[in-house]
Amino acid sequence: MENKFSRKTKELKPSATLLINKKVSEMKAKGEKILNLSVGEPDFDTPAFIKGAAIKAINEGFTKYTDSSGIKELREEISKKLFKDNNLLYYPEQIIVSNGAKHSLFNIFLAICDEGDEVIIPQPYWVSYPEMVKIAGGKPVFCRFNNEYKIDIEHLKSLINEKTKAIILNSPSNPSGIVYEKDELKTIGEIILRNNIFCISDEVYEYYIYDGKKHVSIASLNEELKNLAIVVNGVSKTFSMTGWRIGYLAAPLSLAKVIGNIQSQTTSNPSSISQKAALSALSFNLKDISPIIREFEVRRNLLIKNLNEFVQFIKPQGAFYLMLKIGNLNSLQLCEKLLDEEKIAAVAGDDFGIENFVRISFAVKTEILEQAIAGINRLAKKYG
Ligand code: PMP
Ligand code: GLU
Repeated sequence: MENKFSRKTKELKPSATLLINKKVSEMKAKGEKILNLSVGEPDFDTPAFIKGAAIKAINEGFTKYTDSSGIKELREEISKKLFKDNNLLYYPEQIIVSNGAKHSLFNIFLAICDEGDEVIIPQPYWVSYPEMVKIAGGKPVFCRFNNEYKIDIEHLKSLINEKTKAIILNSPSNPSGIVYEKDELKTIGEIILRNNIFCISDEVYEYYIYDGKKHVSIASLNEELKNLAIVVNGVSKTFSMTGWRIGYLAAPLSLAKVIGNIQSQTTSNPSSISQKAALSALSFNLKDISPIIREFEVRRNLLIKNLNEFVQFIKPQGAFYLMLKIGNLNSLQLCEKLLDEEKIAAVAGDDFGIENFVRISFAVKTEILEQAIAGINRLAKKYG
């Protein structure tokens, strides 16, 4: 049977983040108590006014096909958001709304990759980038990190060749939580311009940013870079809408058109109801999100202040993940011990292209985080 499957599926891995989340759900269903720090999704409920907009859409019969690239009002609202928050001028025709930022990313890879085209993915990376590039026929090429867990610039330069189509940037980063400063983006931007490659800028964690840092979109640095950039974002993280499945991209017009064609022939529009919900979410005043973000910063601080001296970790400046390691345990051993001995679910770093670390999410209630810290510290005393 398997020999009848496509070559693409042979090496395809399931999403590590979603797999462990499923495993935890199954364990919980059997009555086991697990501290789930695996999958990354905010713990707060989708705000009531967003739910209200969706209910209104259903009641008013807004339940049919829409423009396959997303309703005009939503693309207009996204255009306003990009201008207001990111200093980016994109017209609604340059914006495609999809079934989550994951879908936006996959559409991009389908649009730019021919067989064997290379996409540079800086380590550590979100688990799904390499697999999506492979499904699209491209080849993921990994760029090493420097001592700050950011792109090793010399290595990046050495990787670029005539097959290089794009580089993926993800700031704030899943899984490391690092945030690129404007100067660092300028350096990377110069390399992108010199080599005329696309820059896929995944900005889904833009508001989850700490220590007074500011998110900068690489596309906003200059017009030339914007012409090579594809900005990806969504409502999953900002408004705790992971299940609603709305993400979007903004791109040069010709590329947006091609991606619109791909979507019109594959999934058609994302859910009409979710689009109305996203529309109301995006009209939200950003100031109203800041208490939530500050709450995440409090959790981040709780974590980094209370992990004991046997735990080594990367200090997150953004997003809601922390990478940690203990003694000589490799990532799989550490994940297993966390789960078996302390009932803590985490994701192995190997899946993010970083050995010996595991990723935990701090997008969980404080009491869960406190119990998890105690468990990690106990384990660290034993094995650290
Ligand atoms: N990019 C990154 C870096 C992510 O962590 C995720 C996971 N939520 C996504 C994109 C996709 O998010 P969604 O499809 O829920 O919009
Ligand atoms: N992006 C989140 C994570 O890394 C959600 C799950 C997923 O889509 O990978 O945990």
